[in-house]
Amino acid sequence: MQARPIDCDLHPAVPALAVLMPYLDEVWRETVTRRGIDELNTIAYPANSPLTARADWRDREGRPASTLQRVAEEALDPFDTQLAICNCLYGIQATFSEDLGAAMARAVNDWIAREWLDRDPRLRASIVVPQQNPELAVAEIDRCATDRRFVQVILLVSGELPLGRRQNWPIYAAAERHGLPVGIHAGSTYRHANTPVGWASYLSEDYINQAGAFQTQLTSLITEGVFARFPDLTVVLMESGVTWLPGYLWRLTKFWKGLRSEVPWVADPPATIVRERVRLTLQPFDGPPDPATLTRFMEHMASDELLLFSTDYPHWQFDGADVIPAGLDPALAHKIMVDNPLKTYARLKETVA
Ligand code: ZN
Repeated sequence: MQARPIDCDLHPAVPALAVLMPYLDEVWRETVTRRGIDELNTIAYPANSPLTARADWRDREGRPASTLQRVAEEALDPFDTQLAICNCLYGIQATFSEDLGAAMARAVNDWIAREWLDRDPRLRASIVVPQQNPELAVAEIDRCATDRRFVQVILLVSGELPLGRRQNWPIYAAAERHGLPVGIHAGSTYRHANTPVGWASYLSEDYINQAGAFQTQLTSLITEGVFARFPDLTVVLMESGVTWLPGYLWRLTKFWKGLRSEVPWVADPPATIVRERVRLTLQPFDGPPDPATLTRFMEHMASDELLLFSTDYPHWQFDGADVIPAGLDPALAHKIMVDNPLKTYARLKETVA
């Protein structure tokens, strides 16, 4: 790999709630102690499941990606990564207490800033917010956005309501105001069944159905008018898979043509909106394995600006050193690794020559 890539989806892990204690106010330290909360790691897959992380990336305690040294050795140095965006998945969005969620979000963001960003100049981060309550989420965005190393707001794809609903608009207004894309990452607060037809039995069902949740949210954002209301907002779909996009856009565009009278604010074809305002991280790449079919798929994407390099380290689905699909045009690979991330995240340009 020749270009020094920008990794747009890296997952440092909170090793234990104890590391967040110094970043919690006294009332919340007492709350988690009195209630016996010792773990909020509900978003990541089961910690001990072999599928959750590659075996050689687990430390002695079994929690991968929980030290800067491991992340640097396993995910930054091997790719000669110039910048990486930390997306910390910890279960703060799943708490029913909005105040506890807000306190934990503050703790996670401060922990990331002090223990990761301060210690490695290659790292940037997404602002974790209590998406249970948009008002509190906006307060956290405003608090963190003054630190220019925070380059994005991260939401989970499956929360309580479709993301396009107006209750969520203050989050988009705040992100736009600060020049931050909104990144929507795979994950659920488990308020609803993990498939549209009920609860699934297996991890593979849950994981594959995440792509359906992304489609639902993208449709919601488009039809509710989020892109029209916030013209400078970019949305990044993270760990969504990518090969569903062309067929989805054919379907959405067809029915938008027939039903657009009910959503007159969607003035542009959905495919145009997506190509101008939506980006997707690469890993885990779910595309065809042979170069000829891969080339045809990229033609169906109809843009070389949609994809962003990511490792998705340390998830099991991560393709190891083969992050860039075999047979990808070298010029396109460079765009994915460097140019597209720099165009997507305005704040990254401040530190890249
Ligand atoms: Zn990810």
